[in-house]
Amino acid sequence: MHPLRTLILAAAGNDAIRRLVATAPVSRDVVRRFVAGERTADAVRVTREIAASGRWVTLDHLGEDVADEAQADQNVRAYTELLDALHAEGLTARAEVSVKLTAVGQKLDERLALDNASRVCAAAEQCGTTVTLDMEDHTTTESTLRVLRELRRTWPSTGAVLQSYLRRTLADCEALAGSRVRLVKGAYAEPEPVAFDGREVDLNYVRCVNALLSGDGYPMFATHDPRLVRIVAERARWYDRRPGTYEYQMLFGVRQDEQRRLAREGETVRVYVPYGSQWYGYLMRRLAERPANTTFFARALVSH
Ligand code: FAD
Repeated sequence: MHPLRTLILAAAGNDAIRRLVATAPVSRDVVRRFVAGERTADAVRVTREIAASGRWVTLDHLGEDVADEAQADQNVRAYTELLDALHAEGLTARAEVSVKLTAVGQKLDERLALDNASRVCAAAEQCGTTVTLDMEDHTTTESTLRVLRELRRTWPSTGAVLQSYLRRTLADCEALAGSRVRLVKGAYAEPEPVAFDGREVDLNYVRCVNALLSGDGYPMFATHDPRLVRIVAERARWYDRRPGTYEYQMLFGVRQDEQRRLAREGETVRVYVPYGSQWYGYLMRRLAERPANTTFFARALVSH
C-alpha cells in the first residue's frame, strides 16, 4: 500500500487528529465535496437531482463503530426517517440504502446488528426498495456475511459488498454470484496475509468481474478506475449481459462526467450518496485514495 495512504488511514484512528480536522472551519467546505449534507432533507434533495439526471442512488447515513445501543438505535431511526421521506417524494424507485453493520451495533453484539439491520430491511421493503450491506475491515467480513445470509432468508434482494483486495474474495464471489453483489477494490488498511496489494488488487477485480457476470445474479461494479470500467463493458458484452442486468456505481462528487457519459449510453449508474454529521471516517478514506484530494485538503487547512 502507498505510504501516504497508510499514513492517512492511521491518522483516521487518531483522536487528536480527529478533533483537529473535525473542528477546522475549512473541513465543512471539503466535506461538501463528498457529502450531501447533514440532514435527511439534504439527502432527499440530492437524490432528487441525481434521479432527474437519469441516474440511480444508494444512500449512506454516516456513522460507523457506534459505542452503545442508543447510538445504534438512532442510526436505525435515521434510516427509517430517510426511507419515509424518499417514499413520500416518490423516489424509492430510484434509491436504495447502504448500511454499515458497525453503525447498528456489530461491534457490540452481532445479534443486535442483525435485529437492527432487519428493521431497516423491513422499512425499505415497505417503501418499495432494498438495502445493501457495506463491507468494512476484514475483521468484520465473516460476521457481515453471516448477517447477510440471515437477512436474505426474509429479504432475498439484500445486497452484499465484496472487496477485491481480500484474498478470500474470489471464492465469496463464486458463492454469491446468484445474488446482488457490489464489487469494490476495498478502502481499509489491511495486513498482507489477508489482502493483495497494488496491481494484484486490480487483477483480482477482473477475476471477480468474470465470476459475477457468468452467474445469474445482479452485479454492481463500483469503481472509478477507467481501465476497470472499460474491462467491465467488454466482459459484459462477452457474457451477453444487457445494460440493466448489471450496473456501475460511483461515489458522490467523484467522476461526475463519467457517470453522466455511462448513463447517456444507456447504462445503469448508481451514485453512492453519504449524508449526516459523522463524516470523519468516510472523508479520511476518500483522502487516502487520492493524493490530489489530500493536497487540496492540506492546502485548505493551512490557508485558514
Ligand atoms: P482507485 O484505485 O482509487 O483509482 C483508480 C483510478 O481511478 C485512478 O488512477 C483514476 O484514474 C481514477 N480515479 C479514482 N478516483 C478519482 C477521482 N476522485 N477523480 C478522478 N479520477 C479518479 N469500500 C469498502 O471497503 N467497502 C464498501 O462497502 C465500499 N462501498 C463503495 C461503494 C461505491 C459505490 C464505491 C464507488 C466505492 C465503495 N468503496 C467501498 C470504496 C472502494 O473500495 C475504493 O476504495 C474506491 O472506490 C477507490 O477505488 P477505485 O476502484 O475507484 O480506484
